[in-house]
Amino acid sequence: MLSNLKPQAPDKILMLIEEFKADTRQGKIDLGVGVYKNPEGVTPVMRAVKEAEKRIWDSQISKAYTGLAGEADYRNALAGMVLGSVPADRLASVASVGGTGAIRQALELARMANPDVTVYVSDPTWPNHLSIMKFMGVPYVEYRYFDGATRGVDFEGMKADIAKAKKGDLVLLHGCCHNPTGANLTLAQWEEVAAILEKSGAIPLIDLAYQGFGDGLEEDAAATRLLAGRLPEVLIAASCSKNFGIYRERTGILMALGDSTAARDLSQGAMAFLNRQNFSFPPDHGARIVSTILTDAGLTAEWKAELEEVRNTMLGLRTQLASELRDLSGSDRFDFIQHHRGMFSRLGATPEQVAKLKSDAAIYMVGDSRLNIAGLNSDTVPVLARAIIDAGI
Ligand code: PMP
Repeated sequence: MLSNLKPQAPDKILMLIEEFKADTRQGKIDLGVGVYKNPEGVTPVMRAVKEAEKRIWDSQISKAYTGLAGEADYRNALAGMVLGSVPADRLASVASVGGTGAIRQALELARMANPDVTVYVSDPTWPNHLSIMKFMGVPYVEYRYFDGATRGVDFEGMKADIAKAKKGDLVLLHGCCHNPTGANLTLAQWEEVAAILEKSGAIPLIDLAYQGFGDGLEEDAAATRLLAGRLPEVLIAASCSKNFGIYRERTGILMALGDSTAARDLSQGAMAFLNRQNFSFPPDHGARIVSTILTDAGLTAEWKAELEEVRNTMLGLRTQLASELRDLSGSDRFDFIQHHRGMFSRLGATPEQVAKLKSDAAIYMVGDSRLNIAGLNSDTVPVLARAIIDAGI
């Protein structure tokens, strides 16, 4: 039986990591993989996370199973962080296996509720969105998103395309810090998106993987809160991988907001059922770190301060890179780098130019010219800027 399996195409980003490791050139720069790195190139364990782990180690007396939905403390704390307050009469939630697990189960939930669901997804999007939908056989349609000329959002195109989603369809939206482009909507534009969905009855599935990496913890949740306040039904898949730096702990949450307590209860039951089918009980260690931090004022303050350091480091690198490129190109055509938010920017370079950056300057980025800003530091920014100009981008 096993010999019937077809070889899987290797993940492009993981391949890039291997290629980078094998490159023996001095001064090579990795802008590929999507993890935060500090200026020393390290993905650190955050201070508040270390302290929370210490407290858990000291106080935990059992590792018996949690509930199928995960711990209520965790879900309430995280729902509060995302939504501002917990709308208990509307909210169903389950702890998930990272943000990816939440997305996967949001799609399963949608299909249980509406077997004919079509998902509208931005062009481009995080490749795993498409991969999961293909694997599940969930039909999807891409909506226009990135404007190759301005490197901003093609908002007119986006509006026209998402308006085609019907009642009961899903529109997958990046709540902040769009991956892979870095281009985001303004709050006024989010209002327009809400109005379109309000009219059609299509349901937003908000992927919130970078809260706190863009304009701030509250600011990055503003779009999600706006949609949650205006629309009767909203699905949210949030990840703690980046903002708590706990990538490998697999910590996320799936939230479903309904328009009645009856809808909430049905969603809660279905979501717990999906956990049961997929893995029974969700991972607890990361969730416990998050709830330990978010339910203690001192740890929360410590964590927020470090998250701000992370965010400001990336903003500083954006400003520096845009400024270097302004000087070298004698134009403002790279200013979009400064306007983008989150860990990524799409440069808008051709695959040949991306290959040239690799061959001539040992600079690695994803083939679609997505670069991880956090892969830079103040010494490597000028190197990248020079290489971008030399590659004719
Ligand atoms: N959504 C987006 C847009 C992401 O970039 C990522 C992480 N790369 C995820 C979801 C999933 O994150 P997690 O590691 O928590 O599964």
